[in-house]
Amino acid sequence: MGNTEKKHILLITTGGTIASVLGGEGLEPRRSDVMERELNQLRTYYRITVQDLMCLDSSNIRPEEWVIIARAIFEARGTCDGIVVSHGTDTMAYTASMATFMLENIDLPVVFTGSQLPLADFLSDGPGNLRTAFAMAASGAPGVFLAFDRKIMLGCRAVKVRAAGFSAFESINSRYVGNVTATGLALDRDALPKLTGPARFRPQASRQVFLLKLTPGLDPSIFDTLVDQGYRGIVIEAFGLGGMHFLQQYPGRGLAGAIERGVSVVVCSQCLYDSSNLNVYQVGKKLLDMGVIQGGDMTSEAALTKLMWAIGQGMSGEQIRALFRRSLAGEITL
Ligand code: ASP
Repeated sequence: MGNTEKKHILLITTGGTIASVLGGEGLEPRRSDVMERELNQLRTYYRITVQDLMCLDSSNIRPEEWVIIARAIFEARGTCDGIVVSHGTDTMAYTASMATFMLENIDLPVVFTGSQLPLADFLSDGPGNLRTAFAMAASGAPGVFLAFDRKIMLGCRAVKVRAAGFSAFESINSRYVGNVTATGLALDRDALPKLTGPARFRPQASRQVFLLKLTPGLDPSIFDTLVDQGYRGIVIEAFGLGGMHFLQQYPGRGLAGAIERGVSVVVCSQCLYDSSNLNVYQVGKKLLDMGVIQGGDMTSEAALTKLMWAIGQGMSGEQIRALFRRSLAGEITL
C-alpha cells in the first residue's frame, strides 16, 4: 500500500484497561509508550493521528465525559476517514449508546474498542481489538460501532456480558454489523445504520434518569422517593415480557403517581434477549394503562441513554413517547 492510499484514522484515547499498568492499588490507566509501540505496527497500513483526550478507568466516565468525547468526535469530522475511540470496557456500552444519540447521523465510522488485558501484557487482546477497530474505521461505513473480539456491532446494541472473558461484548437483539473472517473484514451492509439527514451534534442530556431493576415485591414507595428527588425519567427492567407486580396495597402514589407527576417511564425486560411486550399479560397491560412507554428490545444501556438524551433535548412527555416509537440508529426493532 503506498503512502497516498493510506486511510487517515484518528485514535482518541480515554483510558481503560487497554491503557492500564499495575500501580500500588491495582490496574490504573496511565499514559505510556505501549500504545505508541502498537500503533507503529498499524502505521504500515494507516495514517494515524492520536488525540489523548483523557486517561480514566471507565467507571469514572460520567455524562460530562460523554459530552467531551462526543464533541471531540464531531469536531474531527472532515479531518480524517474514520475514528477509533479506545475506552474502558466496563461502561463502554453506555458511552457508545450515548454517542449514538449525541452524534445524530454521524457521517463517518466511529469505532469504540478496548481490551480485557492491558496492552502492556504480552497476551493482551488489545492488539487484535485495535486492528479490528481500525479496519472498521477505514471501511467508510458511517455510524457508531463497538469492535471487540473480531466482531463489530452497533454501539447502541452492545452490552458487556463477560467480566473477564475475551468475548466480552454481545450485540443484543441485532445482528453483528461485521466480523473478521478468513477473507478479512466482512460487513453485513443491511445491518448498518442508515443516514437520514445531516450530521448534528446534540449533546444535552439529563442526569435525572434512574435505571431500576425490578425485584419481587419491590416497595412502590421507591417511585415516590425518586420523584421527590427530582428524577424526570425512569427506566424499569421489568420481569420477562415486561410484567410488574400490582397486587400490593400501598397508600402512596407509586408508579402511577410518578407518571401523573410528569415522569417518563420506559419499561424494558431484565431478560437480555428478545423483546419486551406489555400487551401479552395482565401485569403488562396494567402498566400500559398507567401510561408507561414500551422499551421493546432495546438494551437497558440504550433505553437509559436515549431517555437521558430525550429529556436533555427538552422534549415533552408526548414527544418522548413518540421518540421511543422510532429507531434513530438501529437501537430498537420496530
Ligand atoms: N475497569 C476497566 C475500565 O472499564 C475495565 C476494562 O477496560 O476492561 O476502564
